[in-house]
Amino acid sequence: ERILSPEADEIEKSLEKSLRPRFLSQYIGQDKVKTELQIYIEAAKNRSEALDHVLLYGPPGLGKTTMAMVIANEMNVKIRTTSGPAIERPGDLVAILNELEPGDVLFIDEIHRLPRVAEETLYSAMEDYYVDIMVGQGPTAHPVHFPLPPFTLVGATTRAGMLSAPLRDRFGIISHMEYYEEEDLREIVLRSADIFQTEIVEEGAVEIARRSRGTPRIANRLLKRIRDFAQVQSDGIIDRFVADQALHLLQVDQAGLDYVDQKLLKTMIELYGGGPVGLSTLAVNIGEERETVEDMYEPYLIQKGFMKRTPRGRMVTPMAYEHFNYPIE
Ligand code: ADP
Repeated sequence: ERILSPEADEIEKSLEKSLRPRFLSQYIGQDKVKTELQIYIEAAKNRSEALDHVLLYGPPGLGKTTMAMVIANEMNVKIRTTSGPAIERPGDLVAILNELEPGDVLFIDEIHRLPRVAEETLYSAMEDYYVDIMVGQGPTAHPVHFPLPPFTLVGATTRAGMLSAPLRDRFGIISHMEYYEEEDLREIVLRSADIFQTEIVEEGAVEIARRSRGTPRIANRLLKRIRDFAQVQSDGIIDRFVADQALHLLQVDQAGLDYVDQKLLKTMIELYGGGPVGLSTLAVNIGEERETVEDMYEPYLIQKGFMKRTPRGRMVTPMAYEHFNYPIE
């Protein structure tokens, strides 16, 4: 298992529950998104209306699910959670919609993976709070009009561009979640350490924040592993030295890159002279899906300035050569 994977397995998801901030005031970072939502939430509450539909997009592990839950808490309503791939037929969606009470939040993770027919069912549900469902078969088949209570759809996706235009247009609020600043991650690490009842010094938190790919999920995961390391290898207190030692053991380098990142960059340098190289070729070389490379590995490497996308393909930057001590060609 990749230590820097931005995705969580089931065990980690249950641990994450205890770490989730519940209200906007506890939600660290993403100030732009928070300020906007705060205003819309306040206004909707004043009018006693359901909040407009919200689309949250950005890389995995940045707090989209958490934000959906925060929205429900702030609005004082219940939240129902599902995901695009979990909904196979329109009937699955109607069953969920049927259980909503006025004002409730319906959270659909990976909404870009919703099957087309189910997506079309959502249009009228979002716009006018009803669905038309076909009842019966053959010549007796007829549509039945099915009213719904006003509700808020919160959709999450890694890329807004993967959503069809008709679906995207039905979201009143579209918020882009960005990688976290080191300062915000430091605060998240300190907060999580407090919940874990782990002793950590300021510089230890800074070191973890610096090497967490701008992603709270990864920061929390590293913290948990480093805590174990600190308990066994030293006095249980996480300081900069312990954090650095543990991260070294976990093969997370000084720039916060793991072996997959390194392999990706080194492949480009060693096999393709630094690029340009096509995404598919690159994906095959490191044994990953195109989408995985594009959604999980590249964004951070691009943001940090190790590589860039060009019309002719991917290219590494001089910074990547320097990082691995390769002579610049
Ligand atoms: P996503 O849905 O974008 O994949 P999640 O909402 O599941 O991400 O967040 C992953 C973990 O990171 C959660 O356990 C949560 O505790 C933590 N987290 C995310 N954002 C924040 C934040 N702003 N402040 C504190 N913890 C956060």
